[in-house]
Formats: sequence, structure tokens, C-alpha cells
Amino acid sequence: MKLMRVSNPTTVLELIRKEFMALPAEDSTIEDAGGRYLAKTIQSPEDVPGFNRSTVDGYAVIARESFGSSESIPAMFELAGEVLMGKIAPPISTGQCFMVHTGGMLPDGADAVIMLEDTEVSGHLVNCFRQVAPGENVIHRGEDLKNGATALEAGQLLRAPEIGLLASIGVTEVSIHRQPQIGFFSSGDELISYKLGQLGPGQIRDSNAPALLRLATQFGARFKYGGILPDDFEVFMEKSKAMLEEVDFLVFSGGSSVGSRDFTARTMQELGNPGLLIEGIAIQPGKPTLLAKCNHKPVLGLPGHPVSALNIFSIFGRAIIDQLAGRVQERLSPSLKTNLARNVASRTGRTDYVRIKLKRDEISGELSAVPVFGRSGMLRTLAEADGLLVVPPEKEGLSTGEIVEVFLWE
Ligand code: AMP
Ligand code: MG
Repeated sequence: MKLMRVSNPTTVLELIRKEFMALPAEDSTIEDAGGRYLAKTIQSPEDVPGFNRSTVDGYAVIARESFGSSESIPAMFELAGEVLMGKIAPPISTGQCFMVHTGGMLPDGADAVIMLEDTEVSGHLVNCFRQVAPGENVIHRGEDLKNGATALEAGQLLRAPEIGLLASIGVTEVSIHRQPQIGFFSSGDELISYKLGQLGPGQIRDSNAPALLRLATQFGARFKYGGILPDDFEVFMEKSKAMLEEVDFLVFSGGSSVGSRDFTARTMQELGNPGLLIEGIAIQPGKPTLLAKCNHKPVLGLPGHPVSALNIFSIFGRAIIDQLAGRVQERLSPSLKTNLARNVASRTGRTDYVRIKLKRDEISGELSAVPVFGRSGMLRTLAEADGLLVVPPEKEGLSTGEIVEVFLWE
């Protein structure tokens, strides 16, 4: 029997970053660019803000004329007018103040704004009960972003704040990396479509296809389902060759072990150069995982067991999507630290992913992490979990009461 050359998860992640490049760039309107990554750095074409603005409702003044004023000795200003929003403010003269609203322009010569709360109007005069320093309650022209300064770096994920920032500087079109297109095959003679009603003897439904479709979509890729491959090498080769031409990233589920009816490894080896890179990862669940590079494209062979398939795709499939999509920043998964409610056994030399259900104590209100045990074929155990706990390879297990970090699923 052929033995697997098992690699560490970190080695595999490093290899993914080294071997696969971001997809080519395309132009997009900012409305359609959400969730994608910038292919080019963007410089601001103007100062933001474009003029000195007030950050409060109040009176624009020459700051030094307010010096020494207090509750008992207010400074007095002549109310010279009101700055209308979206209009140029008239210049200010000695002894004057102008009413200004939040976001309104400061008159030429004014350098601070006294908050409405610190003033009192009497006729054409405004009494100010507090002194202001130059620049107080003002955002200066270019303070947020100078003309020509970097607004967003290449590789930046475009979320709502980035899209808002682009709009605020008048950038309506951006160059982004193409969205990764995944091609997916399930495999195994025992599988039937999940859309068919009755199972025959020995049959199971292809649950991995729709589950992985959901994950791929969530991770920002498009997903093309190629159907169920029978355990037949000729069919594997023919179908996957055609699919690889059409997609950026090919994924197989099942047939990734070293059994006599497992054809994924051989297919991945013969599909294109250089072929297989990884045969097995020191991880539980999901050890019989394959990774190849065929004609510059990543090909991932997931174990068929649903829990393993989803675990492996969440870690390595996602890393590949990130790489193709042009992500630069490290991905930080949302997590929380809490007490472990039960002992967890683990073998050294292997990274264990333990399914965790969070439980809130009815009296103290505190959360604790309850491990959900079950074999990797049992999808229900995964559906019950709120997240995962990672037991690193050097650890022999974790004890009840230990503080652990639980990575939460979205
Ligand atoms: P394999 O990796 O092909 O050896 O499959 C391992 C286990 O996962 C077997 O019990 C398969 O029946 C099951 N399995 C394989 N593919 C799927 C799938 N697409 N959906 C659900 N279970 C599967
Ligand atoms: Mg199989």
C-alpha cells in the first residue's frame, strides 16, 4: 500500500501563498466592487475635506479673540451672519463671529468654532463663555486625506467604508481582481443527487455539493457544479480536463484516499504540470487531502466525509480563494476566549479541529465551550457547533477549565 507524505497545515498554507497568484484585473464601478480586492493603489485626486469645516454647530471666530473668556467674563462678538451649508462663507473681521453648522465652511480668517452650548445670543451680539484654541472644532482642508496621498492600497478588500471613501473623493471606477470561479465535482458510485427523492440500498445523497456551494459563495468565489463522477478514471480525466479549462480553481470531493477505487490523486497528477504538491495533511478531520497545481491552476482534493470536506475547504479552500482574489492582508477569523467545559484528547504531531458548541450558564451568564464529539461522517455534529477549537500539534490534549480560543463560524 502506498503511504501518504503528510504535511503540516502551516507548510500547506505557505505553499498556497507561494504557488498561486492573483487573477488578472478588470474594471468595475464601485457599486459592483464590494467584496472584491483592489488591483491598483488609489491616490486621492483631491484634498479631503476640500475646505476647512466645522465639526459642531456654533460660532466661527478668530480664536485669540476668545482668550480669557469664561463663565463669569464672557467674550463678546458681533454676529455678522450665518454660513449657509454648501455655500462659500464670507470673510471674517476683527470682533465678528458667524453662525456655522456642522460640516459648514469656516469664513476666511476664522480658525476655531465655539460650540452653541457655550454661547448666548443677545440681539446682534453673541456672548461666549469659554475660550477656544486655534483649530478647535475644525477639520482642516486635506486633514483626512491630502491630494495625491494614498487613499487605498492594492490588495485592499472593498467593504462599505472603502466604497464610501472612494465615492467621497470622486472615484467611481476601480481596477479589481477578477472573481475566482470554482469548478466542483463530487465523486463516488454510492452518491445520488440530493434532489432525487428516494435512496436505493447503499446509496447516500451528495450533500457536499450544496454545502460547498454555500461556503465558496461566502468566501467570495463563484461555483460551477460539474455533477457526480463515478469511480472510473477515464470519466474523471475527461470531465475534469474540460472543467479545468473553464475555471480558475478545481475542487474534487471524495476519492482522495489511497484505496483502489480512489482516482482523484491520479487525475490530479495527470491533469497538468507540475501535478500533485501535497498528499495528506497532518490535520483532523481531513487528513486525506490533496493539493495540486495543474497548468498554473490550483486543484484541491477534499476527503468525501462531509465534516472533513467542510473543514478542509474552510481552511485551505478559503486560502486559495483569497490568493486568487488578490487578498494581501492576513485573514483574522472572529474568535472568543472562554472556558473549556470538558477534556479534549488529541494526538501530538497533528492539528486537531474540535467542533464547539457555546453554552451560556443560566446563573452566571458566562459562556463555556462544549466540545461536540462525533466522527467526520456525522454532519449533525457540525450543524450543532458554533465554531471550532484548534489543538496545535505539540499539545496532547486540553483540560476542563482551560481558557481556549474558539473560532466562530459566520
Ligand atoms: P471518500 O473520500 O470517497 O472515500 O468518501 C468518504 C466518505 O464520505 C464515504 O462514506 C462517502 O460515502 C462519503 N462521501 C463522499 N462524497 C460525499 C458527498 N459528496 N456527500 C456526502 N458524503 C460523501
Ligand atoms: Mg469515494
